[in-house]
This record gives sequence, structure tokens and C-alpha cells, in this order.
Amino acid sequence: MRLIFGIALLLLAAIVGICSVIAKRSGKPMGPTACIMLLCLILPMIGNAVIILSGDRLISTIGAYTYYLGMDFAIAGMLHFTVTYCRIKWPSALMRNLIYAVFLADVIQLLLNPVYHHAFELIPVQVDGFDYYKLNPFLGQTFHRVVDYGILAGIIAILTVKVIRSPRLQTERYSVILISSLLVTAWETAYIFSGTPIDRSMLGFGVFGLLIFYFSLYYRPMRLLDRMLGGVVSEQQDAIFFFDANQKCLWMNRAGHELLGLTEEETEKAGNELSRKFGNRHPGEESWSDQVILETEDGEHICQLSKRPLIDNRRRVNGFYISVRDDTDEQREMERQLYNARHDQLTGLYNRDYLYERTKELLAGYPDEEFLVVYADISNFKMINDIYGYAFGDFALQRVASWVEEDLPERSVCGRLGGDTFGVCLPARGFNQQRVEAKLEDFLVNDGTSTHHLLIHLGVYRITDREIDISVMYDRAHMAVSTIKDQVHIITAWYDESMREQVLRNRQITNELKDALVNGQIRPWLQPIVDRDGKTIGAEALVRWIHPIEGVRPPESFIPVLERNGMIADLDLFIWRSCCRILQRWQEKGDSRFISVNISPKDFQFLDVGGELKNMVQEYGIDVKKLRIEITETVMMSNADKRMEILNELREFGFIIEMDDFGSGYSSLNMLKDMPVDVLKIDMAFLRKTDSGGRGQTIVREIITLARELGITSLTEGVETEEQYGKLLDMGCQLYQGYYFAKPMPLEEFEKQYGVAG
Ligand code: C2E
Ligand code: CA
Ligand code: CA
Repeated sequence: MRLIFGIALLLLAAIVGICSVIAKRSGKPMGPTACIMLLCLILPMIGNAVIILSGDRLISTIGAYTYYLGMDFAIAGMLHFTVTYCRIKWPSALMRNLIYAVFLADVIQLLLNPVYHHAFELIPVQVDGFDYYKLNPFLGQTFHRVVDYGILAGIIAILTVKVIRSPRLQTERYSVILISSLLVTAWETAYIFSGTPIDRSMLGFGVFGLLIFYFSLYYRPMRLLDRMLGGVVSEQQDAIFFFDANQKCLWMNRAGHELLGLTEEETEKAGNELSRKFGNRHPGEESWSDQVILETEDGEHICQLSKRPLIDNRRRVNGFYISVRDDTDEQREMERQLYNARHDQLTGLYNRDYLYERTKELLAGYPDEEFLVVYADISNFKMINDIYGYAFGDFALQRVASWVEEDLPERSVCGRLGGDTFGVCLPARGFNQQRVEAKLEDFLVNDGTSTHHLLIHLGVYRITDREIDISVMYDRAHMAVSTIKDQVHIITAWYDESMREQVLRNRQITNELKDALVNGQIRPWLQPIVDRDGKTIGAEALVRWIHPIEGVRPPESFIPVLERNGMIADLDLFIWRSCCRILQRWQEKGDSRFISVNISPKDFQFLDVGGELKNMVQEYGIDVKKLRIEITETVMMSNADKRMEILNELREFGFIIEMDDFGSGYSSLNMLKDMPVDVLKIDMAFLRKTDSGGRGQTIVREIITLARELGITSLTEGVETEEQYGKLLDMGCQLYQGYYFAKPMPLEEFEKQYGVAG
């Protein structure tokens, strides 16, 4: 019996030794700590085994010392392990050192035993008929026991606190070690008090070591994981149902219970209930996902229903789970966002991008139908907004939107393209131009307090080329509508190829202007102005673009383009400055001729016309009377008060103001009362056109007389024949300009011909 026990103890020590090596090599965080502790446990076990097996005094004595000292190491190792395993911080380094110092003291006093015989002695006894050296304890041994029990009590206290304080699911981690250390302590105590010669509790130490080896390194708290996962799934908003391989529902989460209205006991009914609610979907299929609309008391719900198999690590299907996710809110939100991304907020019509997309789909859907793209533009919208306010403007847009939408033939789409523009794509046979125009002729908007007229123009592009981009189709309709601009009584303009060429041409002009100004391609030409004696007393500056490839470009080919995009201001500033330079030179040479420059009505929108002109004459130090200013009555078409003020200022400053193209407008005579002008330029060309039976002549005569009476100088331009000149002389006209005298010419030629020294 004694032999068997001794060998068992040695075997156990060997296993613990192997475990300590495995622990060391495991690479786990607790590995090194567990290894040290296991090694410490081996010492007393071996010591004990030696005592049990030897039967010899000397060997038993060595065994006894190994056993006692090993006990100190074992307890110290357990302490070190417990502190690390429970993640406890020593309150202070001093306390830790003190405790280990007590161990050291015990070791020293045990080592002094052979000298003082104060700790223990070995007494020979007979066990199972063999010699056995039993330990007889003295005072030193008592100290040893106090130390070891004291520390053991501390360890047990630490583990107890951990078990109590940790979350329930974690206590397992500590309680196994606590219970085993309690058992070991009890066993050891029982041995001490039993008086039996052999200490069998050492087996407990070995088992304790193995438990620690397993729990600290290899134990995976499956129950903890299970509970955690269960907790997560329970709280999921999606309803989840687990089935075994026989289609029996084993478990469902809280959302699942709520969805089906089943209690815990009714879990097995889940399969039938799910089929009843969502139908028997994809029978036999292992894995699928469906979107299902569910009618409930609080309306329609959009659900995402999925089935997935549960496969174990040997690729066997153990069962499956079904999840039901309520996607209603997300779907609605997505739909809302999509709607906003595709529609115009104010009118509810499609926005530009979506209109293009829908137009594309429409054309693709009906390849044989002939379609039109219509671009509707509210021409006076800015004015409506400015005068009647944004609220009325918004209201007007909504009215136009509902007009665009109503009565649309089948196979049509419409949308809002931008601020005050709308687009429609409709079958050509569905477009009744007369009916549409009849409506647009008198498009009134009444917001309940006032009624205003909207001026709406249409540009139409007949889709002849389906290959081009949708945006280009709408651009073409836009191109057509932009040709209408100031023409009254025209409502609809149809796109034709020449428009495209025109647009390209305009773009080219715009792109080329900046360089042309810098490279000297833009120059003022001069056309003489003569007095009643035929003497050239001045000239009008008329711009020419000397193009390197196209030759001389006439002003009509580029001025309207530049007036539309505002670049006319750059051109005019350049011409005025050029003329100032010419006048400065003439003045230095003692030549007193003047130059008239043209001012576009658009200049007033983009420039401080008054300031620029005043600065210029001052900068070049020229007599202000020599730079004459030609304006047309269209200047007064907008902002009349402000512009009148500018003209008055210029006159006060000394400028001579000429009214150009007099007689070509609507209200020339009327205007003359208030207009601050010094010279009237009467346009012969205009009068020639209307000349039927000498009426033109009469009008010219009347104007000349009127001018004289108002103290205004009269100038007739467009004089082409000697006869005209003669008549005008008779009528008393003061100044003349026209091909009869000379055509506009380059500066050098003018100076040569009229004797200004170069
Ligand atoms: P406008 O100011 O009425 O200039 C007179 C136009 O009549 C000039 O045409 C001139 O060449 C032409 N003309 C002169 N005598 C006769 C004649 O006997 N018979 C005929 N049939 N025509 C005659 P041009 O140079 O082609 O200029 C056209 C218009 O371009 C000008 O009309 C003016 O409105 C504008 N323009 C010219 N230069 C400038 C400029 O520097 N700035 C601005 N803003 N506009 C300019
Ligand atoms: Ca002019
Ligand atoms: Ca003119």
C-alpha cells in the first residue's frame, strides 16, 4: 500500500512536471506563471514520496527537508499564481516584500534545524511492516505551519472575494480553484490532526496543480459564451428562430415571440405560424432571402425574411435558423431620399437629372415614335420676382408647373430644368402648337390678391438624331427659345441646324475675344464727319476685328454676341481708351478734330460708364469736348432715372452727348423732351426703308427743324449720294456722315487723307 502510494505520488509529480513544460511552451499569457507554480508543487510531492519509499534515516531526512522547504515554495508559488490569475495589485511593494521575507525566514529557520533541532526530528516507526521515519514537530515546525496556513488563508480569501464580486457568469473561473484549494487545505489539516504517519494530502496538491493547469490555460467558458451569444440574440430587433434538422423550433428570441404572439411553451408551433404568416417559401431550399410585404393593424410592413443552415465543423447540417427583419422604416426613408433626389422641391416635378433619365427611358421604350423636346422659359420671371416678391414668384412657378403637367399626352415626361425653365418630352403628334400658344398668349397668374401676366416662350427640338445625349436635345430646344428673346408676338421657336452653327460661332467669338484684344486684332476704324462746308471736323470710331484668317469682321457679327454675355464692356473700354490715345496725339500735333465713340446699353450694366469716361479724359489730358459719346434711346429702356443722372453728370463734366439712330426707335420724339443730348444723329438708312412718296424727306426736314428749335445740333448719317447731301444742305442739316464722303477706314489712312501728321 505504502509502495503503491509512493509510486502514485511520483507519477503524479511527473505528470505535473510535464504539464509545467507544456504550460511554459503554450505561449498563453498565464503560461509562465502556471509553469512556476507547478514546478513549486513538485518539490513537496517528491520530498514526501522519498520519505514514504526510502526506509533509510539519511534519505528520509533529505526527503523531509525537501518536503518542508518545498512546501514553502509551493505555497509561495500558489500565492504568486493567485495574485496573477485574479489580476490583483499588491497594495504596496513593501507588503509583498514582507510576505516573501516571512517565507525566507521560515526557510532559514528550517535550514538551521540540524544545528538547533528546534523544528522537527525523525522518529522511526513501522508502517506495513517496513521502517518509516515519521516527523515529530517542534516549535519551528509550528512557525512553519503558521506561515503556510496564514498564506493559504490569504489565498482562499482572495479567491472568495473574486467569486463574490465577479459577474455570475465569470465565477466559474475562480470557484473551481477556490474549491480545490479549500479541499487541499482540509485534507492537509486532517492529516496533521489525524496523527497517521503518511501524509496523503500531497496527492491533493498534485490534483490541485492539474486543475490549475487546465482552468488557467485550456478551459473555455463555453457556458459563458453560450449565455453571452444568447443574450445578444435575445436583444436583437430581428426575430430569430432556431430549428433542428427535423424542422422543430428549439428556440426563438424575444422579437420572435412578439412577432408570432407565442409563449415560451408554444415554441414548437413557430414553424407553422411562420408558414401561416409568410407562406411556405422555397420548400426544400436550404438558404434563401425574400422581401415580404406584411399587412398588419398598423399598416403595411416591409420584411426581409431569410433562412440559413447551421453547419457544424464536419459540414453536417444540424438545423437552420430563420430571421425576420422589419425594414419598413429604412425602406420608407430610402424611398423618401430617392424621391427628393429625383424631384424638385417646389413644384414636385422631376428635376433636371431625373427628367433626362426618364426621357432616355421613354425614347428607348418607343423607338418608332417621333418625339419632340420642348423647353419652356418664363421670359419675365426675374421682373416678376423683383417686383412682386419671391412668394409670388414661387406661386407663379407652381402654376406654370401644373400647366406643364396637365393635358400631357400619353408617353410624355416633364420636369423642371432650372429656375424658371421647364422641359417636356412628348410625341410629335401630341403637340398642338396653336392650342398651346393660345393659352400662352394670355398666361395669367392669380394668387388671390393680384393677377399678373407671365411671358412664356417655347423652344422645340424635333428629335431627329436619337444618338445624341439627352442633355444636348434639351440644349437644342433651349437654343431655339433663346433666339426669341426680345421679339414680341413670337411664342414658339423651332430648332434648326443653323442655330447650332450660330451657337458654335458665338462660342468661338467669345473664346477668341480676350486674345484678340491683346494681340491688336481689335481696332477702331474712323469714318469722317463733315460740316456744311465739306470740312472733316471729326470722326466716328467704328470697331473692326482684323481676324488673321477671316479678315475684317464687321461689328454685327460679334457685337450682339458680346452684348449678350457682357464682354461688350471689355471691348468698349478698349475702344474708348484707343480713341483717347489718338486724341491725345492729335491734340499734341495741334489738330482739333473730335472722335465719337459708341456706348452700348449693356455697358451700363457692367461698368461705371460715367466714372470710366471721366477718368480716361483726365488720364490722357484731353479736352473733354473731343471725346463725343454716342448713345441710343434703348439705353433708357431700363433704369431710366439712374441713367439719365449719369448722362447729366457727363454733360456737366463737359462731354458732348449724341443721340444715335434717331428715328429708328418708337419714342424718339417723345424722349427728346427729357433727354440731355447735344447732337441728334438721324439715320438715313432707316428713313430710306420707310420712304414711300417722299414721307421720309418730310420727316427728316421736321426733325432738323425741331432740333434747331431745341438748340440741338443735327447730324445725318448714311449719306450716300450727292443728291442726298444737297437736299440735306437745303433742309439746314449741320453735320454729315456717310459713304458719299468716306467709308470707315483704318487710323493711318484717315490721318494720311485728312492731313493729320503721322
Ligand atoms: P452705328 O453706330 O449706327 O454706326 C454706323 C454704321 O453705319 C456703321 O456700320 C457704318 O459703317 C455704317 N455706315 C456709315 N455710312 C454709311 C452709308 O452711307 N451707308 C450705309 N449703308 N452704311 C453706312 P458698322 O461700322 O458696321 O457698325 C455697325 C454698328 O455696330 C454701329 O452702328 C454701332 O451700333 C455698332 N458699333 C460699331 N462700333 C462699335 C463700338 O466700338 N462699340 C459699340 N458698342 N458698338 C459699336
Ligand atoms: Ca454710332
Ligand atoms: Ca447710327
